[in-house]
Amino acid sequence: MSDTSDAPDTPDTPTPDTSDTSDLAARAARLDAADELAFVRDRFVLDDDVVYLDGNSLGALPRAVPGRLAEVVEHEWGRLGIRSWEESGWWTAPERIGDRIAPLVGAGPGQVVVGDSTSVNVFKALVGAVRIAHADGPGRDEILVDAGTFPTDGYIAGSAARLTGCRVRAVPADRIAAEAGPRTAVALVNHVDFRTGRLYDLPGITAAVRAAGALAVWDLCHSAGALPVELAAHGVDFAVGCTYKFLNGGPGAPAYLYVRPGLQRWFDSPLPGWNSHAEPFAMAADYAPAEGAPRGRVGTPDILSMLALEAALGVWDGVRIEAVRAKSLALTDFFLECVARYVPAGLVESLTPDAHAERGSQVSLRCAEAEKAMPELIRRGVVGDVRRPDVLRFGFTPLYTSFAEVRRAARVIGEVLS
Ligand SMILES: *Cc1c(COP(=O)(O)O)cnc(C)c1O
Repeated sequence: MSDTSDAPDTPDTPTPDTSDTSDLAARAARLDAADELAFVRDRFVLDDDVVYLDGNSLGALPRAVPGRLAEVVEHEWGRLGIRSWEESGWWTAPERIGDRIAPLVGAGPGQVVVGDSTSVNVFKALVGAVRIAHADGPGRDEILVDAGTFPTDGYIAGSAARLTGCRVRAVPADRIAAEAGPRTAVALVNHVDFRTGRLYDLPGITAAVRAAGALAVWDLCHSAGALPVELAAHGVDFAVGCTYKFLNGGPGAPAYLYVRPGLQRWFDSPLPGWNSHAEPFAMAADYAPAEGAPRGRVGTPDILSMLALEAALGVWDGVRIEAVRAKSLALTDFFLECVARYVPAGLVESLTPDAHAERGSQVSLRCAEAEKAMPELIRRGVVGDVRRPDVLRFGFTPLYTSFAEVRRAARVIGEVLS
């Protein structure tokens, strides 16, 4: 990694005071030398002059993707044409790639299907879950939504509620366990808050929601690929997530839907397109749902994006998600420490929890000058993003972010804000 803009550090001298940051480069070097995931960075196309801390919005490009996409376009589409639906495995790609994502979210084969956007999958999951809740009889007329939710989830929940005779009640995510009650049909929760990076207690909230007789729907957009998610172990009913953040699938890559095995046969999709039919090529007038994961399909899959995602998932070969989590926490700890050392006191305030159990893989810094500072950070090679009005957001992708980069980013933030 090129990080040559500093004067040489003196590694092993103890730091006399906190304004002396000379030990940080040596610390970063030691952490990088001990990093068991360091080899994965080469699987990505990255510019060593840029510290890319926006993988929580759009993951970096995996090296295998351009070649694979060219092959799909030139050979599978260009030469084989229509035959590729069978011969190149296009038709079964949504389930095959779902099975590739499953181990990253603690699901088994046949439980995850890839397709459509997260927004569309939130709709399928919510309406499907309310229909299951209503099959037990009336009385459950409330969809609980995490009050800090990513906006699309809240908007879709509102529409799902109007369609199913429910109303939406927004409560803070850490209150959902306490608020779920006899009127709750479904609770929709974001695993990690996109603004603050706070990680919520998936096992505890799921258990409480289910104990109240309701169903738990989780949005994993900011957790899958950054930390272990144990959907099956904790009895999550439905889960959705996108693949263009920590899964690096590319802009607009298709999302995924998980349905708990015990619920699959009760899942009545509100978007029963022909791809989810038990016999799609019978072209029957009447609808009969497929069994298992394909029931979550809708229409013809977006093959180019889907196969780009499949190639992108190759970066996970030989990577343990536990190692990813350990490095993610080490990166965010080190970043917070470097920010405290390089940024003059009072200019930023971390919104991200100190406790590891409550931290995702991003750090959000409240900063009065956020909107002015980010373009300057980007100009100086530190790419994050802003959540208005005053949050600087930095995502840490353990597969390719180094500790040296973390230190450099904090130093540049200090320079820009001073
Ligand atoms: C990124 C994100 C989405 C995105 O939804 P799309 O339909 O893919 O645009 C939804 N929910 C959460 C929590 C997100 O972080």
